[in-house]
Amino acid sequence: MIPEVRMRRCCPACVRRYAALVAPDCPVCKGVGVLGLGAAALHHYEPAVVARAVEFYLEAKAREAAEQLPLGAPRREALAAATDELRYAGVIADPLVSGDPARHRADAPEGTARRVTDAEAARLAYLTGATPSPVDQANLDRPPILYGPDDRPLARSLPVVSAAGSPTFLARAADPADPLGDTRAAVYERRARDWRANVVAAAVDRVRSIRTRRQARRAARERATLHAGTHAGTPARTQETA
Ligand SMILES: [Zn+2]
Repeated sequence: MIPEVRMRRCCPACVRRYAALVAPDCPVCKGVGVLGLGAAALHHYEPAVVARAVEFYLEAKAREAAEQLPLGAPRREALAAATDELRYAGVIADPLVSGDPARHRADAPEGTARRVTDAEAARLAYLTGATPSPVDQANLDRPPILYGPDDRPLARSLPVVSAAGSPTFLARAADPADPLGDTRAAVYERRARDWRANVVAAAVDRVRSIRTRRQARRAARERATLHAGTHAGTPARTQETA
């Protein structure tokens, strides 16, 4: 039997969360952070097409659930069910075989290649049972929308977004924003987190430069000792102090 090639992509719901953190209770990836692409779909389509079709399918299904379910009803179950449908259809693999979490987000193709990929992906999502619309594609590609401290989403009819600002139905189902949440508090908390993240990143840089300097000094010392060893009888230290 030919061993299965395990192509993976980051969970499309988790990459749209704050700092792309994986949710342990994510309805799409169940906390694994990645989805294995299904062997059946990979037999007919390129990995990029299959990965994009997963997004199209989940977005279309989440949009339909948002239209059909009563306002405020949780849509996580609908998203979990859509993920199961993709699994049964062989578009994504069983979570047990998807392996270790991926570290890199796959780069999307650009230009013509991107358009062809999207058209094929929409077709695959359609054949699997969803009806993707151009709105879904636009939503998936839109950057996060972050509310300002004085924005009042309910009062000013700003776009409805997920907790991390994604306008996709997919992220709004997996990571819903609190409709009565305090926008001002959320903005200040985000700024504080970003500030702390910058501090950590700066510390990493500093530790690295200290380590590099130490390594350079140690290497210089070793070179000096070696040099002293080759000139037996005339230790380096005596030469230095002389
Ligand atoms: Zn996830």
